[in-house]
Amino acid sequence: MTQTLETGTTTQERVDAWLADFEAALAARDAERAAGLFATTSFWRDLVAFTWNLTTVENRDGVADLLRATMESTDARNFHTTEEPTEADGVVDAWIGFETAVGRARGHLRLTDEGAWTLLTTLYELKGHEEPLGEARPMGAEHGANRNRVTWAEARRAESEELGRTREPYVVVVGGGQGGIALGARLRQLGVSHVVVDRYDRPGDQWRSRYKSLCLHDPVWYDHLPYLDFPKNWPVFAPKDKIADWLEFYTKVMEVTYWSKTTCRSATFDDSTKEWTVVLDRDGEEITLHPKQLVLATGMSGKPNVPELPGQDVFRGEQHHSSQHPGPDAYKGKKVVVVGSNNSAFDICGALWEVGADVTMVQRSSTHIVKSDSLMDLGLGDLYSERAVAAGVTTQKADMIFASLPYRIMHTFQQPVYAAIKERDREFYDRLEAAGFQHDWGDDDSGLFMKYLRRGSGYYIDVGAADLVANGDVRLVQGQVVSLSETAVQLKDGTELEADLVVYATGYGSMNGWAADLISQEVADKVGKVWGLGSGTTKDPGPWEGEQRNMWKPTQQEALWFHGGNLHQSRHYSLYLALQLKARQEGIPTPVYGLQEVHHLR
Ligand SMILES: Cc1cc2nc3c(=O)[nH]c(=O)nc-3n(C[C@H](O)[C@H](O)[C@H](O)COP(=O)(O)OP(=O)(O)OC[C@H]3O[C@@H](n4cnc5c(N)ncnc54)[C@H](O)[C@@H]3O)c2cc1C
Repeated sequence: MTQTLETGTTTQERVDAWLADFEAALAARDAERAAGLFATTSFWRDLVAFTWNLTTVENRDGVADLLRATMESTDARNFHTTEEPTEADGVVDAWIGFETAVGRARGHLRLTDEGAWTLLTTLYELKGHEEPLGEARPMGAEHGANRNRVTWAEARRAESEELGRTREPYVVVVGGGQGGIALGARLRQLGVSHVVVDRYDRPGDQWRSRYKSLCLHDPVWYDHLPYLDFPKNWPVFAPKDKIADWLEFYTKVMEVTYWSKTTCRSATFDDSTKEWTVVLDRDGEEITLHPKQLVLATGMSGKPNVPELPGQDVFRGEQHHSSQHPGPDAYKGKKVVVVGSNNSAFDICGALWEVGADVTMVQRSSTHIVKSDSLMDLGLGDLYSERAVAAGVTTQKADMIFASLPYRIMHTFQQPVYAAIKERDREFYDRLEAAGFQHDWGDDDSGLFMKYLRRGSGYYIDVGAADLVANGDVRLVQGQVVSLSETAVQLKDGTELEADLVVYATGYGSMNGWAADLISQEVADKVGKVWGLGSGTTKDPGPWEGEQRNMWKPTQQEALWFHGGNLHQSRHYSLYLALQLKARQEGIPTPVYGLQEVHHLR
């Protein structure tokens, strides 16, 4: 047990004392006293436990404000540590548990001499609506003799025949990629009737349809789905068809109610009945559903940004967005121009070069590149790796450690990582620069992950293609594409690039565009931009939001939710979204604190 020399108290006693003081202040409904237990510069991140929202408040006045609004209804109590706290560099780290009036919660506390520096509080289950896990798992078999026996399969079949015909689902999730599937699995466990719809033929087709050389850029420890980890022999970077098959298998074994070949045509919310009217085309049949909640899990990498250029109609070669790129096989010996210099552009250039195409990359603005092995080692290794697992950092624990870092200061944890990467791979970056590649480290040198959270673009995790650019095997041209002729791509400075194929690796639009397409421009504008933190950096305009805009939390449009992100986010945040939906289905009061204001339309 660690002991603080000056006071003679142990870290455990310090944390216990803080938790007891905090609980006493809450019990006395004294927000100011509770806020006084925080340091002057402090952050409290709450995921649904107090606020029925995903919110971060700052400093004592922020804490007091949150508590004044929420402490009565939350009635939080029984705060305790769940393992022995540790201390390093003057900061005590403690894992905590507590309960609220309606649920059970866990969290994390960082304590300095001045008080709480960071606090994370997260709801993980609702009392009376616990998931059927462990001791509470279903029997499956029904022992005894029963003439009216209904087997598991019969019950499932009856459910799927009724759903959407004689029984309305409570939730419709539009989009059955990894996001929709993970949420569907959680809703099933929580007993929330739902249907996940996707226009593809089979779950996993989102990945099957992408270019053939694609492998996940994130490692296996980061990618587990809820409830069911990948097996221990799963590749570190899953090839796209393997992840597709896993998603299809997962959908089946987790009994996600999933309608393939189903396109959502429109959705309208009726303010008086508090119901959506969702019009679907299910393999040619029009079906209208009336759920109470609508989730758009339509993908942040789903709505392609395709530039409109004069001459596209006269160009005699082939042209497509990166999302439509079939892979390199048909382009051996062909001249290919790839417009863009981020992940997809590099992956596609690399695969085309491997089959012997003549490839040119057109770079318009700077990109951040980080070598995959450096990122795995220095960026993710402490949390998501075999090394982390050996040190007791399970994926669930890693998710919570990650969640415990407030976004406001997350970049300060990232900057030293990228400084170390810069040093380690100096020779690589020098070669890239010498080849004329415009490279950046993010506006404040905080690297890839902050770029992802802020703007969801502007980077490449290098798995080899950057060397092709650095050594000239893939030609690099700087400039802005302005038009196409019959045979070439034309740049602003007059450069002409002969092409048989043009690939627009120009990224994807805001998820807000899906709301405009499916619901209305008015609702899309009411909800505003989706994604980003309001950091005031490139493509993430302020003001500061504290959390990712509109993701996994209530929006300005009642009963409309957005879900998605990478596999880590889909896994972690689907829990909080599922609990918010479950509480509403059960009629549990969900007073939302700090509903996000809208500052940007898209
Ligand atoms: C080249 C590339 C590499 C990537 N590498 C990684 C990686 O390594 N790790 C990672 O986590 N992420 C990676 N991503 C990001 C990846 O796209 C997302 O993480 C993931 O696909 C998001 O899942 P999702 O479920 O939110 O969206 P998607 O997978 O895009 O699924 C959205 C679904 O919505 C459906 N849909 C949309 N509109 C409708 C409608 N009107 N009706 C019915 N269905 C509809 C679509 O058919 C689609 O299936 C990569 C993306 C790209 C493009």
